Amino acid sequence: MSKSIVIIGGGLAGTTTARELNARGQAVTIIDPRAGETCERPPLSKHLFDGARHHLPYHLESTEHITFVRDWAEDITLAEAAADSRYTAETQRHPHTLAGHHTTGGTVHLSSGESIDFTHCILATGMEANRPQIPNYPDALPVYDLGDADWILDRVEQATQPLNIGVLGSGYLGMEVATSAVAAGHQATVYLRGDEPLRRQLSAPVRQALLEKHKAAGVEFVTHTSSPDDIPADVHDLFITSVGARPRLIPIDGDRPAEAWDVDESLATSHPGIFAAGDCAIVTAGPYALDHPWACEPVAESHGQFLAELLADTMADSPAEVADSDADTAVSGAESTTEMRATTWSDVPWHWSLQGPEKVFTAGMTSPDATDTIIRHDPSGAKFQVFHFDGSDPESKLIGVETLNWPPMQAAARRVLGGSHIPTRAQIDDPDFDFKAHSRL
Ligand SMILES: Cc1cc2nc3c(=O)[nH]c(=O)nc-3n(C[C@H](O)[C@H](O)[C@H](O)COP(=O)(O)OP(=O)(O)OC[C@H]3O[C@@H](n4cnc5c(N)ncnc54)[C@H](O)[C@@H]3O)c2cc1C
Repeated sequence: MSKSIVIIGGGLAGTTTARELNARGQAVTIIDPRAGETCERPPLSKHLFDGARHHLPYHLESTEHITFVRDWAEDITLAEAAADSRYTAETQRHPHTLAGHHTTGGTVHLSSGESIDFTHCILATGMEANRPQIPNYPDALPVYDLGDADWILDRVEQATQPLNIGVLGSGYLGMEVATSAVAAGHQATVYLRGDEPLRRQLSAPVRQALLEKHKAAGVEFVTHTSSPDDIPADVHDLFITSVGARPRLIPIDGDRPAEAWDVDESLATSHPGIFAAGDCAIVTAGPYALDHPWACEPVAESHGQFLAELLADTMADSPAEVADSDADTAVSGAESTTEMRATTWSDVPWHWSLQGPEKVFTAGMTSPDATDTIIRHDPSGAKFQVFHFDGSDPESKLIGVETLNWPPMQAAARRVLGGSHIPTRAQIDDPDFDFKAHSRL
């Protein structure tokens, strides 16, 4: 029996997996009410006010190998008997060793009442925004999907004079909306719970530099806003909320985790044959384990590429080849394939955020609470980098870099973190050390 791969969610992670499996000649079914019509999310929060295109479709088309099922997946049931006999702890870690002799792993149940069996399933259901009520602004909404963005854009396009925009929340999306509004000539006030924006995203030097730059550009900040009730009435023409999002999770045999799907270094959940990718997954093992979803585009895309590589059938798995060989040969063929494929997701994670004219990047493991960092270049100037280490002693290892307004140095940081020539702490601390040249070693 050949593999039957089902992807639930046709956003970036799901679309990438399907595209890459298709390129390898592997059949796949993708379930999403908007399968084939989904679009990139990052432009939604960046291009509300500048007239640039905010709707950038992924352009995934159904092919001989890609089947669209335009429906919601409601839950999954596991084929227990098959699971017990087929999947052991070892095969969960290296699921592709099952190549060539798959059994049904489970069934996805759809809103329509239909169901689809699978041998392998990828959960790629992303997140949904929190949508708090703002007492004095009943039309307030987040900018999280195309519908939100289109509604806001209509209001912006109908305006005959600059708008006064209120924003609740000061994470990446809130700051992108406020700063792009001000850059386009509108007024923007950010209401935040604490006393500085981006408190959960960036280290102190970067968030302080951004605060100064955004204030200088004209963004207003109202700190210590503990409740939406504190927001004054009749001030804003448009109100946008940006107070986080939570993973969309469908139950598996009645199990729905509290936060997101925990996955191991191969992106496998604890359920046999079921993987999770992108915003609905927490990577708990491997070099880039974290206690929350990475929730960024490059990781969702990289997860998709990794799973396609992991799950694609190869020549050695083809039914004809298996039929032509005895069972031992088939197994050893699959095992040698295993050796050739990466079984640990290990692409350097990175993120970018465009906040008006300011460009902020992270690469690798960075922490908003890090204090023992090294700053290179001038934090009060236009551009600089903050280097994060795995400890404070001289031997500690470089694990992450934040970069403000310096794209070539972000590229250098990604090269360094993904390569085998990691500079020492002493080198990073030396102002004469040429980090960019080192990144090309
Ligand atoms: C406004 C905005 C701006 C962003 N800007 C940046 C940025 O500048 N840089 C960056 O790195 N990242 C950014 N991100 C984050 C990035 O877009 C996400 O990390 C990425 O889209 C995650 O991809 P995903 O495939 O996991 O989820 P998504 O792209 O959200 O896709 C999930 C898909 O699953 C479908 N789905 C959900 N539940 C079901 C179900 N039960 N059945 C069937 N289908 C289902 C949904 O319809 C959706 O199409 C931004 C996000 C937003 C919202």
